[in-house]
Amino acid sequence: MQRTNSNKKRMGRLLKATIWVVSVLVVIVLTIAVFQKQILTAVATKMIRERFLNQAHKNDDGLYAGLAGTGAPFPDINRVGPCIVVEAGDHLYIIDAGPGSTRNIGLMGFNIARVEAILLTHFHSDHIADLGEMMLQRWAGGSNAKPVDIIGPKGVETVVDGFNHAYGLDAGYRVAFHGAATVPPSGAGGTARPFSLSSAEEASVVLVDEGGLRITAFKVNHSPAYPAVGYRFDYKGRSLVVSGDTVPCQSLKKHAQGVDVLFHEAQQPSMIKMIHDQAGLSPNPSLAKITADIPRYHTAPEEAAKIARDASVKHLVLYHILPPLPPVLNTMFLGDAAKYYDGPITLAVDGLLISLPANSDKISIKQLL
Ligand SMILES: [Zn+2]
Ligand SMILES: [Zn+2]
Repeated sequence: MQRTNSNKKRMGRLLKATIWVVSVLVVIVLTIAVFQKQILTAVATKMIRERFLNQAHKNDDGLYAGLAGTGAPFPDINRVGPCIVVEAGDHLYIIDAGPGSTRNIGLMGFNIARVEAILLTHFHSDHIADLGEMMLQRWAGGSNAKPVDIIGPKGVETVVDGFNHAYGLDAGYRVAFHGAATVPPSGAGGTARPFSLSSAEEASVVLVDEGGLRITAFKVNHSPAYPAVGYRFDYKGRSLVVSGDTVPCQSLKKHAQGVDVLFHEAQQPSMIKMIHDQAGLSPNPSLAKITADIPRYHTAPEEAAKIARDASVKHLVLYHILPPLPPVLNTMFLGDAAKYYDGPITLAVDGLLISLPANSDKISIKQLL
C-alpha cells in the first residue's frame, strides 16, 4: 500500500514537471511566432553590422595575399577562377580576374573600392572573365571618379576596350538611376596600362617603386599565350611572387629567388590523364583533345617544388589547381612534391589569407571563407 502511494506521488510529480516543460515550450514557440519579425530583424541587423565591421578591418603594416580564386577553367566546388588580392601597407592590388572572384573579394572583407590597379598575367579567359564585375564594383562601390588601371603586357588594351564596351550600357543605367554624384560617369570601366618587356627570356620591368613598395613584372613561358608574366611584390623586408600560368621556367626561378612566399600554378598530369582516359564517356566531344593538350603548358606540383627549392623560397603555395580537386585527393595531387622541397607546401583553396608582417620573418595563414 505504501509503495503504491509513493508511486502515485512520483507519477504526480512527473506529470506536473511534464506539464510545466510543455507549457514553457508552448510559451517559447508562441513568443517566437508572435515576435518572429522582430527577432529576424535583430538577427539580420547583427549580421549586416558584422559584415560592415569586417570590411572595415585594417591589417597591421605588412604584405598580405588573399586568395580570392585558386582554380582553373574546369568547375571546382572549392575554387573559382584565379585571383589574388595583394595588400601592401595602404596599397591594394588585384592579380588576375578569374570568374567568380569578385564575390570572394567582398566575402573575404577586402574593400574593392580601394583597389589601385588590377594586374593581369595573360589574357586566357580564366584570368580575365571577372574584369567587368571587378571594374564595376570598384567604381560604384567607392564613387570613384577615375577608372581603375588595368596593367598588363601588350594586348591589355584590346581586353579592356572590350570590357568597357560591353559594360557601357550598364554604366549608363546606373548613372541615370543613382546619379552622377554617387557613380561619377568619368569613373566607369578601366584604363589599360600596357607595359613592354625586352626580347630576353628572363626580361623584367619594375612597374611601381615608391613608399617602400616595389612591383616587378617578369616573363614566364605559357606559349602560345604570349607574352605571359608573373609578378613580384617587395614591401618592407617581405616578398612574394605570383607565377601566373607557366611551364617550369628559368625566369620565374630567377625572379622568385629568396622570396617569403611563392604562389605557383599547379596541375597534376597523372590526374589529367585519368580524365583523358575516361573522356569518351563525357558528352563533351573536345574533352579528349583538351585534356591531352593541357599538360604541355602548365607545371606539375613536383616541378613547382623543385623551383621552390632552387629559388630558396620559404613557403610554397600551389594555386590555379588543375584538375578540380576534392580534398580527399589532395595527397594524390601533391604526388612526390615533398621529396623535392623541405619547406611548407600549402595546397590552396579559396579564402586563404597569407600574412607577412613588415620587418619580420613570420608567415601566418588563416581561412576567411
Ligand atoms: Zn593560361
Ligand atoms: Zn589559367
